[in-house]
Amino acid sequence: MTTVPADPMPRALTLLKQVWGYDAFRGVQGDIVRTVVDGENALVLMPTGGGKSLCYQLPSLLRPGVGIVVSPLIALMKDQVDTLRQLGVRAAFLNSTLSLQDTRDVESDLLAGNLDLLYVAPERLLLPRTLELLERVHVGLFAIDEAHCVSQWGHDFRPEYQGLRVLPERFPYIPRVALTATADDRTRADILNVLELRGARQFVSSFDRPNIQYRVANKEGPKTQLLDFIRAEHAGDAGIVYCLSRKSVEETAQWLVAQGIDAVPYHAGLSPRERGSAQDRFLNEEGVIVCATVAFGMGIDKPNVRFVAHLDLPKSMEGYYQETGRAGRDGLPSTAWMVYGLADVVNVRRMLASSDAPEEVKRVEAAKLDALLTYCEAATCRRQLLLAYFGEEYPQPCGNCDVCLNPPQVRDMTREAQMALSAAIRSGNRYGAAHLTDILLGRETEKVRAMNHHALPTFGVGAAHDEKTWRGVLRQLVSLGYLAAGEHHGLSATGKARGLLKGETTLVLREDTLVPRVSKRERER
Ligand code: ADP
Ligand code: ZN
Repeated sequence: MTTVPADPMPRALTLLKQVWGYDAFRGVQGDIVRTVVDGENALVLMPTGGGKSLCYQLPSLLRPGVGIVVSPLIALMKDQVDTLRQLGVRAAFLNSTLSLQDTRDVESDLLAGNLDLLYVAPERLLLPRTLELLERVHVGLFAIDEAHCVSQWGHDFRPEYQGLRVLPERFPYIPRVALTATADDRTRADILNVLELRGARQFVSSFDRPNIQYRVANKEGPKTQLLDFIRAEHAGDAGIVYCLSRKSVEETAQWLVAQGIDAVPYHAGLSPRERGSAQDRFLNEEGVIVCATVAFGMGIDKPNVRFVAHLDLPKSMEGYYQETGRAGRDGLPSTAWMVYGLADVVNVRRMLASSDAPEEVKRVEAAKLDALLTYCEAATCRRQLLLAYFGEEYPQPCGNCDVCLNPPQVRDMTREAQMALSAAIRSGNRYGAAHLTDILLGRETEKVRAMNHHALPTFGVGAAHDEKTWRGVLRQLVSLGYLAAGEHHGLSATGKARGLLKGETTLVLREDTLVPRVSKRERER
């Protein structure tokens, strides 16, 4: 056992070089290491790729005893431990994937003081057996990784994490360092509360990724839009294309390959071998594009991913930030590119409304979706909005997002919004965007005649605008919560619409700058 020297930093820098081969700390890493080595608690908020691991790994080597790392990412533990072992660190893990014999071996190494770092899944840590074991050994620190999992408000709530309350109770004198890449104010408050970190030092790194250019466009022909984007800006570059379903992952990858682009699919429905080979190709070859569901990316550390494309909406701003954050870890210019359209907005809203999750959860999810949709519809700097969501103020427009580079036209569309809302209300709050557009434009379709909607006072009131304008207005009304999406994609006016209809509030919307190419499928909805 070693004793903590008066100034741990010279030794910290030596180990940083010897073990990891790094010449210097990055950002606040050094301050965090010093704090934790000194035995104080800490909360670390650092974006993905910022270098959080070092903030507990290095102190674990510098403090007497073993560092216990709580992590929910069981699938990644083996890799993390293997990597550490290759560096010469005595690391091990305990989770449900270990055989009984392996578990025994790890436990006896632990008892013999032969470990520097032990990764533990939260449910394993909370077993009486594990807690008793830890009371018998010398623990140097507890690192609680992915600490946002304690919060119901966080996007990744895990009930076991609330059980981590036992740490301050049973090990009050052992320092705790909680780390996360995502924490808005509420999540942060939950972490401080559950892990009793009030009064702990907080290290908040900027979440800004200045080299990433954020762009969101109206979805018109997603595959073609993607191909144009890749060809024009990222030919031969490595990238990730996120899709919602396994089916669209497959289709997109196949289609890109047919266009001569080196793309591979990745989703949970593929065999471990297929996934492994997709991942290997992506990591080890030049310019491979992975089309993936969100299952892909956790723990992937490829520095030169030049773009992340979303063909479907992420679930929340946290998800969007994490997924786009996989681009440009090397600091070179990269693009976060997304297309979304009316059908997507209607779909996610409807899925949320019809889910049988508890009301409380649905409310949280709806609020998260609202934030994301507001971001998508933004007519102001996207980076400012994104950072504001994480509680960070960005002083002026960034100059490196689509809104800054190509400001959208905005105008007062209160009257158009009123027309669209009354078309929905007068037709009974149950028709989809396509039919409402027909009513507004005054098109006597079969359905319009069958429903007698050509007799409505709103029939044809919007003929001064084209179809594209109305789809844009309807999409924004759904995104911004004036229209709710229900069964069969039917749209109904919400309580929020009342002020607008009465003329008490006004609405400024963006005029979509792109030429419409509404797909047949979308039109039929
Ligand atoms: P996070 O857990 O915050 O997502 P990681 O700990 O995985 O980030 O680190 C991200 C990348 O940064 C890794 O490739 C890591 O090797 C590298 N890294 C971390 N700290 C340093 C440093 N001080 N100098 C150079 N590279 C570093
Ligand atoms: Zn901007």
